[in-house]
Formats: sequence, structure tokens, C-alpha cells
Amino acid sequence: MRIITNTEILYSALGKPDIKDLESIDTNCLICGKHTKEGAKAKKVLSSNFTNWGDCKDRSSQYICKECAGTIKAREVRVNSFVADANNLYLLKKNDIENYLFNLGKYVTGEFVVGITQSFKKHNSFRCKVNSNPKRYFIREEDREYVFDVDKLKRVYEYLNDAYLQFSKDELQTGNYKMISIEQFGLEKFATYEDLFSQYRGSAQFDLLIYMMNSEKRNEYVKAKQKAQKEEKARLKALEKEKKKAAKTKQISLF
Ligand SMILES: [Zn+2]
Repeated sequence: MRIITNTEILYSALGKPDIKDLESIDTNCLICGKHTKEGAKAKKVLSSNFTNWGDCKDRSSQYICKECAGTIKAREVRVNSFVADANNLYLLKKNDIENYLFNLGKYVTGEFVVGITQSFKKHNSFRCKVNSNPKRYFIREEDREYVFDVDKLKRVYEYLNDAYLQFSKDELQTGNYKMISIEQFGLEKFATYEDLFSQYRGSAQFDLLIYMMNSEKRNEYVKAKQKAQKEEKARLKALEKEKKKAAKTKQISLF
């Protein structure tokens, strides 16, 4: 059985949009390289800004198959991160990414593709690798590609989220921590966490985990923590004042 291609998955997930300028041909597709009897002239599909020639599988061809044409023309898979199988296309907002990447089995069946964008303008779709295991799969992220191992990265992500309550994304990404942050976090705990982080720092996976951590949620937590600390301080101060006052009253009554 022939394995389904990335653009066949996406074209199907996109609902098989109509393609203009289709011709009967008998040649390979410029983009995916498969032999096809139906396609559109590359000039009519690709804009003059197209630069991904190195990713084209048959550069001698002037034609693009229906599936590749429909996928390349689909703006939504260019300006969004996405997960798709043949029947579903999930367009992901930044804060959705973690749920999908760690629980892919809930969303896809059979072959699927995963594309992440941080620039929102580069082609991912036809450069995605086709995956079949929702626990270990390839992610295409613009000009880079890497393996996402759910079980391994889940632990790193949990540690990162906990550390993120104390440290900034920048500190976690670069490893340049403020000493006061380390002191507040606890040096021993920090050492354990940093043992894990240092194994991943600099990798595309680590960058992605940091990117997808929910900063709104974190900021709310930090704000609430600061408020609670402030209230506790005020409470202690009031208590101290109360004590002093009581001592004074006692002194006076002694006379
Ligand atoms: Zn094609």
C-alpha cells in the first residue's frame, strides 16, 4: 500500500478545496514528486515570493498536483500552528499547543502531520513529515524539524512550568539566572531542575516548550502570590502594632 503524503493529508483535512487551472497531465509533481495525471502549472500556484526550492522533490517538473496546490494555497496552514489527519484540521493558538502536543492520541487517528509556526508566515505544510505514532513524532517548525517524544518531554515541561513561577522565560532559556531568583527558589531544588534543563537547553524541543508555556496563567499566579505576600506583611505589621499598643496599655495600668 502506498503511504499517504503530507499534502494528501492536509488537502483532505482542508475539505478538498477546488483548484483553479487544473490540467490533464502525465508527469511528476514539482513539490511532492509523485506521478500525477492532474495538476496546475507551478507558475499559477506559487507566488514570486516562493523560496523553498530546496524542499521540492522534482525540480524538473513545471506542474504541481492538486493536493500540493490546494495545501500551498491554503492560508490557514501558513499563519497558524496546526495538527491534521485526513479528517481533521486543528488550527492552534499559542496556548492550545501544549494540550495537543501532549495528548495527540485524543485528536488524530492514522497518519498525521504537525506544523508549528512562530513567525506566522513561512510554509510548513508541504515540508511536514508524515507521522503515525502520537507518542513520538516529527514536528516541522518552519526551517527546522525535530522529534517530539511525549513521555520524555512531559517531565521536562512539568519542571519548566514549576520553575516558570519563579524564573522568567529568558532565564530558563539561556541559563543566565538571577542569583536572587535561585535563592528564593531554593538552591537544592534548583540544582535538581537545572540538571534536567541543561540536558535539553539549546535544542529546538526546549525552545518550543518554553515558547508554549502559558505566560498569562503564570502572570496571574505571580500577581496573586505577590498580593498574598503583601497582605501577609500588612497583617504581621498590624499585629505588631497591636502588641505594642497592648504592652503600652499594660505599662500604664501598672502605675
Ligand atoms: Zn504534489
